[in-house]
Parts: sequence; C-alpha cells; structure tokens
Amino acid sequence: MKTQTTLNRFTIRLALAAVLLTSVISSCKKTDEPTAEASHKQAIDAATLSKIETLGYSTKEIKDLGAYYLVENDILLSKETLAKSKGIEKLMGLDQGISQAQTPYLISGSYQNVTISIDQSIWGNSTWYSAVVQAVVIWNSTANSNIKLNLFIKDYDPSLLADIEIRGDNGAFDIYTAAGALPPTYDGKPGNLILVNTDFRDPNTNYFIDNSQTTWNMIHEIGHTLGLRHTNWDEMDEGYAAQIPNTPNTDAYSVMNGGTAISSYSSSYPALPSVYDAAAITTLYPINTSSTVVPMISGPSTFSGERTFHMSYKSLEAGLSYHWEVTGISGTTYYYGYTGSENIFELSLSPGSYQIKCSVYGGKYSTTGIATKNVTVN
Ligand SMILES: [Zn+2]
Repeated sequence: MKTQTTLNRFTIRLALAAVLLTSVISSCKKTDEPTAEASHKQAIDAATLSKIETLGYSTKEIKDLGAYYLVENDILLSKETLAKSKGIEKLMGLDQGISQAQTPYLISGSYQNVTISIDQSIWGNSTWYSAVVQAVVIWNSTANSNIKLNLFIKDYDPSLLADIEIRGDNGAFDIYTAAGALPPTYDGKPGNLILVNTDFRDPNTNYFIDNSQTTWNMIHEIGHTLGLRHTNWDEMDEGYAAQIPNTPNTDAYSVMNGGTAISSYSSSYPALPSVYDAAAITTLYPINTSSTVVPMISGPSTFSGERTFHMSYKSLEAGLSYHWEVTGISGTTYYYGYTGSENIFELSLSPGSYQIKCSVYGGKYSTTGIATKNVTVN
C-alpha cells in the first residue's frame, strides 16, 4: 500500500505544471513531451491496458515491474495470469459509490484453506514478521469468516508452494509504497504474492514504520489477496468495483481504504479495524462450520538441542485449543502429550526418531484439524 501520496502527487503536479509552463513560454519550441503517466502507458500495449480496465482496475498510474504491473498504488497484476485471462467479459458494471468492494475474481470454496509462506527477508525483520503473524490471527479470528490462513516458514519447507508468498520487494517499489499484493485469479485462487518494501519509512518522521503500522499494512495486503479492493476506490478514482452487500457507502475506519500505509492498527486485538471489514469478508466467504482447517507443522526435520515448532493455523477465535503429542517412532520409545492455547511448541529430545502431531479443535470449525511432522534428533 502507498502513503497518502499528497507529496508524490504534488511533485507530479509540479512537474506537469512545469511542462505546461515550458510549453506556454517556449511556444515556438516543439514541446510534445509525454507526462510520466503517458510514458508508463506507452510501453504497455493497448490490449493489455484494455484487459486490465475490463477487470475494473484503473490504469491511470500503471507501472511495469517486470513480471507484474502495479496499479492503484499497491495492486499487483501478474502478466502471466493476465495473458491467460482470455475473453474476459465486462465483469464490473456498476459504479455504486464508495464502499467495501470486491475484486472481479474471488476465492472458490476449495481454496479457502490458504497457505502463506514467509522467507528470511520477512521472518528476519521483526517488525514485519510480527505484522504477518498478527494479520493472520486477525483474519482467522474473524467470527463467521471461512478463510483459514496457515502460515509457515519457507526455509523449513522450501519445496512447498504456498498459496500466498510474502517476501521482500527487492527494490521493486518506490519509497512511497510499503507493500503490494495480487488479487485472486480467474481460477478461484487467492492472489499468490505480497511484496513488502522493508525499507519503507513514514515520510512524516523518516523512521521505519512501527509494528502497529506494519500490522495495518499486512492486514490490508492480505485483504487484497482475499479479494478485497480499496473501500475508497471511487474517491481514489480507481476504475470500477462491485460493492459488497452489508457494507455502508463510506467507511473511514476500513483497513481497506487506499492511501493509508502509515495508518496504525489500534483496534482491540484481534478485531479488524472496522466492523464492516468483518462484514465484507464474512459476506464474501461465509463460514462453513463443517469445513476443516488443514494445517502443517513448520520446523527443522533434523536437529539437536532445543527447537521451536510452529503449527500453521494461529487464531484467537473463542474456544480454540491445540493438543500437541510427540511419539517415538522407528524403534524410539517415547510419548508426551500437552494441551494449550499456543500454536508454538518448544522441543528438546534425546537422539532418536519422533512424530510430532498437533490437533487444533474447539474453535469455529466442528472438525479437528491435524498436522504431523516426523523429525530425527541427533
Ligand atoms: Zn491497497
């Protein structure tokens, strides 16, 4: 997401004014210089721009970031996915004003257990790492939402392809952009990438944004991957978006308002910033209590000494418990069981082979979610 880009826009306006002024003053000189916006667009073919606009997004300040186009400040559109989206119908018909809004494609029922991976660029940055964890808890804890976010650390499971990867932007974003995300795709999957500008600073203080701000950003970006557009899309002049039923015409508190990258999360954790953000997600994805959390356990497969294991589904929904069991396997005799409210387990074992099992139950879903992992201790 971007900061409220008054500075940025002001700079652009100044530049435009300068161009206009130049053309007025030196009218004999041929001044056909393109604006920054026009030159961005020139490099992108008309069919692609039209495709993006058909999806409802504005191409006004579109940027080419290599494999992605960046539109509306923090929405990433995959070139590969766009190329596959043939013959898109006019999906967005109605300009219904300012409201919680949805993307053209949503997540289908079979993809609502969502895996999210983070790599070293994120878990090595405590402010952004804790933001991811808190944002995951906030979305998971939302009563009546069927979205089950499962967070794991990529380094432990490098072969596992997550539904959403969160990683550093590697210099892709300008200094005004904190993060960006992909919307869900035509095949009913969540947007598969969130890029984070870990160098992003609050332009007012020039300090790196703090945890309450990174948390706000991460709730927002995950919201995009789940199919939420900017609540204030109309005010931001961002194409067309469909209003989500059960949401109001305007919502100053919505975490999905665009241009809010320096806003802070200050709600009573784990509540979403606005009750209408909760209304939006539960309207799009109403809970199916007989659906199941499909978790996994993140941690080293071989280790010695003490190690920490993370069960991927972390939530503060009412009644949720975690039952951990460690059982000796392949000739190792051992058993330990423990029930608690934590998805994290510290383990220190004698050399041998073990199976770690974590069951999550008692929360929003009636079926127990079970994750296992076999480990070798040297
Ligand atoms: Zn955004």
